Amino acid sequence: MSLDISAIRKEFPILDQKINGKPLIYFDNAATAQRPLQVIEKMDEFSLLTNANIHRATHTLANKTTEAFESARETVRNYVNAQEVAEVIFTHGTTESINLVAFSFGEAFINQGDEVVVTEMEHHANIVPWQMMCQRRGAILKAIPFADNGELCTDQFDSIVTDKTKIIAITHVSNTLGTVNPIAAIISKAHERNIPVLIDGAQGVPHFRIDVQALDCDFYAFSGHKIYGPTGIGVLYGKRKWLDQMPPFMGGGEMIDRVTLSRTTYNQLPYKFEAGTPNYVGAIGLASAIQFVQNLDHQELTIYENQFLTAATLKLKQIEGLKIYGEAPQKAGVVSFNIDGIHPFDLGTLLDQLGIAVRTGRLCADPVMDHFGVENMVRASFSFYNTFDEIDVFYKALIRLKAMF
Ligand code: PLP
Repeated sequence: MSLDISAIRKEFPILDQKINGKPLIYFDNAATAQRPLQVIEKMDEFSLLTNANIHRATHTLANKTTEAFESARETVRNYVNAQEVAEVIFTHGTTESINLVAFSFGEAFINQGDEVVVTEMEHHANIVPWQMMCQRRGAILKAIPFADNGELCTDQFDSIVTDKTKIIAITHVSNTLGTVNPIAAIISKAHERNIPVLIDGAQGVPHFRIDVQALDCDFYAFSGHKIYGPTGIGVLYGKRKWLDQMPPFMGGGEMIDRVTLSRTTYNQLPYKFEAGTPNYVGAIGLASAIQFVQNLDHQELTIYENQFLTAATLKLKQIEGLKIYGEAPQKAGVVSFNIDGIHPFDLGTLLDQLGIAVRTGRLCADPVMDHFGVENMVRASFSFYNTFDEIDVFYKALIRLKAMF
């Protein structure tokens, strides 16, 4: 293993601190990953020296900002291997990206009685926008269930997807179960029936290198803050053939070609979908985060993350009364669990007293809670900057807390 975790950790100064008197163990990466120094410095430097609104003025700072923003778009295009920069739309995050597609695709292509298919393991961000659109357009939302081990019931695809299905929206990686869905196979099956597929990549991008052309997905949505970049910036990749036919999501500056008081014509892609001043500093930070990740050996990262997940899972399983939700054979670094007799909120609060940051609650996935008949869960989610020693500290903390109850 050539991955130097201690060198990587030095790039993340936030990790080197005590919380409640104990060394921080940050196991809440699926909610937000930490940012390396180069991202923070890039954004600071930009704000200190260059800041000006983009695309609107001819002065030097405006030109520099515009150039940096468009260069960030090219960095994203290259990273996900989109065919052209026009297919890369900057949004505030995955949530906005999905809302954009649900609204605009819905307006263009969904009619009374049509069907939209999601899965039972979606984050609310990939359920609610579709429900809202279905309500507006008189369409029906259906969901492919998952089995108790967290695997998607792909065998039910043919009975749930019908000739009324107009779009399938599915998460790449479940934020709750950690399940890695077989998206390439689903896309290819959907395309046999000419059905486009949106991938919610919020939890996919942190673990996989994405090639949207190889995947042949129609839309891929992700957030900057889950891939070591800033909050408030995200991406919607969309195939031009769809984006060209979809009406704008929001109206305002930048998305227009010409406005009169009686009618407006719209700008070309991608600007048609970028109304108002975008988060250009965020986009520049995101590009820096992508460059950071690109400089790491992806194969080594994958090996490390897989070994880490296996080690954490085996350790947690030694704890009597601990139930893990989601043990699909293809899984990314997320372990959600409960311990008999301990309320997840108590566990989260007490772990915090020991310096350990985990997520507790419904994990923005009510249908997953309903599936298992629980109100809440505890979730530990990992990154390449977590160390195997941290698993031991976590394990010992859980044993200690369990003994207290
Ligand atoms: N989809 C998944 C699978 C997620 O995990 C998240 C965030 O946790 C989202 C969508 C929403 O992302 P954001 O809040 O950055 O828009």
